[in-house]
Amino acid sequence: MKPARKMEAGRPSRLDGRDAGPPLVKGRKLLKRPKLAVWKFASCDGCQLGLLDCEDELLALTEEIEIANFVEASRAVVRGPYDLSLVEGSITNSHDSERIHQVRRSSRFLVTIGACATAGGIQALRNFKDVKEFVSIVYARPEYIETLSNSTPISDHVRVDFELRGCPINKQQLVEVISAFLNGRKPNTPPHSVCIECKQRAMPGDAMAASDRSGRVTAAMDDGRVIEIKAGDIFYIAPGHDSWVIGEEPYVSLHLMGASDYASHKP
Ligand code: SF4
Repeated sequence: MKPARKMEAGRPSRLDGRDAGPPLVKGRKLLKRPKLAVWKFASCDGCQLGLLDCEDELLALTEEIEIANFVEASRAVVRGPYDLSLVEGSITNSHDSERIHQVRRSSRFLVTIGACATAGGIQALRNFKDVKEFVSIVYARPEYIETLSNSTPISDHVRVDFELRGCPINKQQLVEVISAFLNGRKPNTPPHSVCIECKQRAMPGDAMAASDRSGRVTAAMDDGRVIEIKAGDIFYIAPGHDSWVIGEEPYVSLHLMGASDYASHKP
């Protein structure tokens, strides 16, 4: 049983100080029009929507690169191989555990985007329970459901060149990652989540109790548990956790206790 990983804004892997191969540009001129592919595995599509939401940047991008395979945006598919593949979602069934190898073989660079692809996502909650029990509760005909007992990140299956973390991903960071790979350089993204900034200042952000007023937030406990808190919940989070906002809706909570110590310096 593998616990879900903690999420950070971005984690360089293969490009961290190593050769990215010959760049696709020389000076300001593209050596060829690179092909971009976007792949979906088990996910909510929110990170792909983040790419579509880039709008102006996406239009500029289509002048520089060929969006060759992005079924959420267009049914037209250009055959691979692809210069850059963006992969959303985790591996949750045997078909996808084979398909991801085909994607890897057809991709010069493979970048995973979002918490599902980099850590297993919310669907990795099954990793701590019996998935058959979930299936029997959710589906009228559970015998039709073929699924793996664990939800695993893409890097558990194939070599990944870069992980862009978040739920959903930050669209400016996504544009930066695409631009970096096209130019053969390391992406310039923060290596940690916002919560780390408090911890770096010795402001641990430990225990608190609050009534959540709007938005959603996730808390990843140091023991591997991942808790999602939504509007209307009353909760207590013990010391030793990391957390981040889910989606675009602002997160507002009313602190009932613990606020005097929250994110404050500790001797
Ligand atoms: S990381 Fe979050 S937004 Fe992205 S596909 Fe997974 S659940 Fe959706």
